[in-house]
Amino acid sequence: GDSGTAAKNVAVVGAGLAGSLLACYLARRGYTVTMYERRPDPRTGKVERGRSINLALSERGLDALRRIDLDRSVMADALPMRGRMIHPVEGEPGFQPYSSDGERAINSISRGALNNALLEAATALPNVTAHFEHRLVGLDPKTGAMTFAVDGREETAQADVVIGTDGFSSAVRGQLLAHTGLTESLDFLEHGYKELTIPARDGEFAMDPGALHIWPRGASMMIALPNPDRSFTCTLFWPTGGTNAFASLSSPAAIEKHFAQVYPDVIELAPDLVDDYLHNPVGVLGTVRCSPWHAYGRVGLLGDAAHAIVPFYGQGANCAFEDVVELDRILDETGDDWDRALPEFEARRRDNTEAIAQMALENFVEMRDKVASPVFQAQKKVEHALERALPGRYVSRYELVSFSTTPYAQVQRRVRRQQRLLAAAAGAAVLAVGALAAFAFRKGTGA
Ligand code: FAD
Repeated sequence: GDSGTAAKNVAVVGAGLAGSLLACYLARRGYTVTMYERRPDPRTGKVERGRSINLALSERGLDALRRIDLDRSVMADALPMRGRMIHPVEGEPGFQPYSSDGERAINSISRGALNNALLEAATALPNVTAHFEHRLVGLDPKTGAMTFAVDGREETAQADVVIGTDGFSSAVRGQLLAHTGLTESLDFLEHGYKELTIPARDGEFAMDPGALHIWPRGASMMIALPNPDRSFTCTLFWPTGGTNAFASLSSPAAIEKHFAQVYPDVIELAPDLVDDYLHNPVGVLGTVRCSPWHAYGRVGLLGDAAHAIVPFYGQGANCAFEDVVELDRILDETGDDWDRALPEFEARRRDNTEAIAQMALENFVEMRDKVASPVFQAQKKVEHALERALPGRYVSRYELVSFSTTPYAQVQRRVRRQQRLLAAAAGAAVLAVGALAAFAFRKGTGA
């Protein structure tokens, strides 16, 4: 392409989490940034029901915010969660800290508040403009000519560089699919999700706000994160295919009966359960893979548009923010040469986004199943003891993913190495015990 170092105008399509942060970063580099967003301005309009209300922000996301001095304002309303609170069907909930010192926390923040703060920060810059209710419907990747559906009409615009930050069902990706050699795969999860609310009780949190609450039930799972207004937002994960578990509860009585059996402690905490259940939509979840993420040195994909993942590691937004930091770094290194920067961005990010995609799928099994088992709980204790005994040498996967900026692919490799070591150590221990037992046996029998 002819964009090269001459690129001055960048269109950011999708003013969600990644797009708003990207606009801040690019404007600081001196670009004229125009954002196009399908929805109305979230700072004035009302928010859609059914997208996650809150999310867990951890070190990678914080690092991206810190670099442009947005961390303090964003974190003002954040609620630190230092571990998991596991709710069994019967008996008291049990707490499992995330880190060996019990201190490190992931942060529950409002998606809306975060998006608004980033939009505010972007549009406060003189070289950023945002157009809402502009849905991208056409793109010529060779020229950067874009078409938007605006209030029943079509409008056109043009930019030197177009970045698609338009999420899971990216229209920019769709245009690359139609006009270039891009290929994609969408792996939908069998599970969908529905949000439910646990309101404040007498003005206070109805459960411990310092934890991410989990109801692991094997085939299904529910989680809850605290909100600044002292409510919790619960997300219920359940299969949607085949028998469609969600639709199987169609009457208030059936909903109440199911929750009384499977999530008994939630019944009295969630007075609007039936209403929430009947009216909140079921969201789909899945993994997006596509290649290449760019065309003609002019069009690129970033965030969920390039590599959406399932939410079970709480990393989608964190990973998208990390994308922004990496692209900014590459623009530094290439002197803003987009012809080189876009392929380099994909080269550096692809293994990492694939690694977190896999780890997020694996963590679903851990959350919905393993956390409830005594064996798993014992393993976590051993792991934390190892971390304390070998500081910096043995670090759990959760810590590396959530509390460091170690590239995801490196985390995956390191954890595999640690697991082999651990297995070898456990094997050696078993052999030693076996040898001792055999020795004792021979002594005992006189053999
Ligand atoms: P999005 O946030 O989806 O933004 C895309 C934007 O593009 C939207 O504003 C959309 O309106 C706009 N758009 C779409 N199409 C067009 C178009 N044609 N024209 C113009 N604009 C368009 N991540 C975490 O880090 N931690 C968590 O705890 C966490 N929990 C999650 C829980 C659930 C249930 C789900 C579903 C996701 C969760 N995620 C979490 C993932 C996180 O939400 C995403 O990774 C993140 O929102 C990606 O940001 P994005 O900007 O790439 O996409």
